[in-house]
Amino acid sequence: MSKKIGLMAEKRLRVLVDMDQVIADFEGYFLSQFRSKYPNDPFVPLEERNTFYLGDQYDGMSDDMHDKVRSIYHAEGFFRDLPEIEGALDALKEMSEMKGVDVFICSSPLFDYTYSPKEKIILARDKTLVNGHILIDDRVDIKGACTDPTWQHVLFTACHNKNIKVKGKKRLENWTDGSWKTLIEDFQKRL
Ligand SMILES: [Mg+2]
Repeated sequence: MSKKIGLMAEKRLRVLVDMDQVIADFEGYFLSQFRSKYPNDPFVPLEERNTFYLGDQYDGMSDDMHDKVRSIYHAEGFFRDLPEIEGALDALKEMSEMKGVDVFICSSPLFDYTYSPKEKIILARDKTLVNGHILIDDRVDIKGACTDPTWQHVLFTACHNKNIKVKGKKRLENWTDGSWKTLIEDFQKRL
């Protein structure tokens, strides 16, 4: 093997993928659980969600709303039972089988995840410290101790960020139209 090919073979693309609202449908499942537990309370339809945290939109609706909202996602099994974002698991499986690509789930350690035990999981409250080439995440502002993280943030479109204009970031709209693959291949070319 020539030296050049040897070097090329070592270049692997590290893709970090957030969990909530990128792989697991937190918002959709929260709303369905909330409506079934509190059918007479007001709620925010997904089309009208526009904040990262639920509480920022819900808490002001009534005196007990703060507690009601938390009672849903603090319920036992809530995170275990989250359905997948359509196509996510197939896409991640295919991505992790792509030549030269390593996929890591990169999630904040707020809750006990048992969703995807086969994947490599990095729990990091501060994702700016995690080393990777791409971070696919639905959170618009990812800040931390490192102001110049190694990864490029790709914003995964979610109900709460769909109307936010973000400059200088690529978006991934879904896992189903195949655009994720073009995105990964483009990054691989630039390694
Ligand atoms: Mg998320």
